[in-house]
Amino acid sequence: MDRIYLDANATTPVLPEVVDAMRPFWTETFGNPSSAHHSGQRTRSAIEHARASVAKLLNCTAKEIVFTSGGTESDNLALSGVLQPFIDKRQPAHVITTQIEHHAILYTAQALRSRNVDITYLAPTRAGLIDPDAFEAALRPDTELVSIMLANNETGAVQPVGKLARIAKAYNPAILVHTDAVQAAAKLPLDLSGALKNVDILSISGHKMYAPQGTGILFIRKDVHLAPLFHGGPQERQRRAGTENVPGIVALGRAAELALAWLNSDAPQQLAALRDRLEQGLLAAIPNTHINGPSGTQATHRAPNTTNLRFDSVDAEALLIALDMQGISASFGAACQSGATEPSHVLLAMGLTPAEARSSLRLSLSRLTTADEIDRALDIIPAAVARLRSLA
Ligand code: PLP
Repeated sequence: MDRIYLDANATTPVLPEVVDAMRPFWTETFGNPSSAHHSGQRTRSAIEHARASVAKLLNCTAKEIVFTSGGTESDNLALSGVLQPFIDKRQPAHVITTQIEHHAILYTAQALRSRNVDITYLAPTRAGLIDPDAFEAALRPDTELVSIMLANNETGAVQPVGKLARIAKAYNPAILVHTDAVQAAAKLPLDLSGALKNVDILSISGHKMYAPQGTGILFIRKDVHLAPLFHGGPQERQRRAGTENVPGIVALGRAAELALAWLNSDAPQQLAALRDRLEQGLLAAIPNTHINGPSGTQATHRAPNTTNLRFDSVDAEALLIALDMQGISASFGAACQSGATEPSHVLLAMGLTPAEARSSLRLSLSRLTTADEIDRALDIIPAAVARLRSLA
């Protein structure tokens, strides 16, 4: 029987349409996009077509899109790109971020801190949400950058980034606002001319939106200058040196087109309904189970594909191994943390005890998850939890 993949927040499969779009760019149309000859110009125009598709998904201009190697590079370029000039000039600078960011942000912030950048880490509420009043209170005259994620990779909690950006700009229009939208892209509408019009910089990873691993996007609003991370050629309008990953960029463009069509259909509601069926089914079948993240009246503040559940007195690591053996791929947090015994920094920041965090499991559905898979998971997971509890 086929495996049940419930770890789409770690990575998504590459869609067949995306693979088809990429294929010619390895073997047939493989020119260097910086070459003046015909082959080069064909790949150049494929890159620009992809850029236009991504811009359409985000409702911004194509010139504002930079292609990178992934979410981690996009996050590093955003933070270091804004702050490097302050470090170079030995000018004080303050950054506001949160305790629940991905390590691509947290460790970059830590590196900047060691170079005299002052960082405020906002704590979330118990539901994993950032309180706009607490955010406003943290703003300072020397605040240069805000970096707050859109959807959390572990709980799916969706932060009010549009509102926070508006508050920041009202306090000081010169503050730059970055958001890590890696877990929001292709799941939620992202409108950089509407709800997110005060966001200046936005990170996306290809492999969370059905394009390959090692591909990414950084939106940089017109007139915002970032110091580049890489030095070399003039690619990406001097913002990201290095010969472009043409097949990867073509994939991002095709994935963006498919994401737009998906978002404009009723598929997001169907995905949320499938997630709710899994979540409600597990809550009903397994006593002493709790949702980590926005629920009840706050349930809409959550990505449609994610649930993070806590099973009292169950070791999530043992549960993951049991589920894996029965054909279910899941995780207890960020993929890069899986296998580590440290409890999730996100769940701890929300006020869970280390024991509670260690009893928590993340289930994240993909666009390809079927009702049959959810029903099979609803047979397997309660039995696995009951067995672990009986052994404890
Ligand atoms: N930001 C978030 C919220 C993520 O979930 C991830 C990956 O899990 C990243 C950044 C890093 O993206 P990438 O794996 O493309 O480097």
